[in-house]
Amino acid sequence: MDYYGAGIGKLIESLQSLPGIGVKSAQRLAFHLISMPEEQVRSIADSMVYARENVHFCRECQTLTDGDICPICASSKRDHSVIMVVENSRDLAAYERTGGYDGVYHVLQGVISPLLGVGPNDIRLKELMQRLQDAAGETPVKEVIIATSSTVEGESTAMYIARLIRMLELPVKITRIASGVPVGGDIENVDEVTLERALKGRTEL
Ligand code: ZN
Repeated sequence: MDYYGAGIGKLIESLQSLPGIGVKSAQRLAFHLISMPEEQVRSIADSMVYARENVHFCRECQTLTDGDICPICASSKRDHSVIMVVENSRDLAAYERTGGYDGVYHVLQGVISPLLGVGPNDIRLKELMQRLQDAAGETPVKEVIIATSSTVEGESTAMYIARLIRMLELPVKITRIASGVPVGGDIENVDEVTLERALKGRTEL
């Protein structure tokens, strides 16, 4: 990138480290940023740094939030006795967009994938088990809906979670979303009607 000079070369290189950004996109973005008003660029940079410094996992459901607890966990309008287990915060957002779910969530922040070297301890599973045990005293959880994707990893993670929950010997119903979600499909990319149908048609494990 020497032909651009160090300043722009470094910017292109930094942008290229982002997922889905190849050299051409990085160049396009870099030139666009340089042509933008300085104030606007500063605002983008500031929001990136702010998010990186302040966003962390919700103490309760492990989704990304900038408070101690996320707005969904903090809401008294939500049914805290139903927990939907999803793979990531994007899937949570997809279910929220359907407007058809009023329970709370648990975000695994991944799926178990032996191929990629992701084991049960690498996702937020301990936190789910702890949560179910802690709730058992005061406000017991009545149902856990496992909404991991229908990929091989998603399915085996679902089975693993169901087995772990059963071992707690709590009166919790364990359900799995219906297969309306296409096999191998990313939940994030499924339309709202299909998602809502998958949720309504869930079956007990
Ligand atoms: Zn939360």
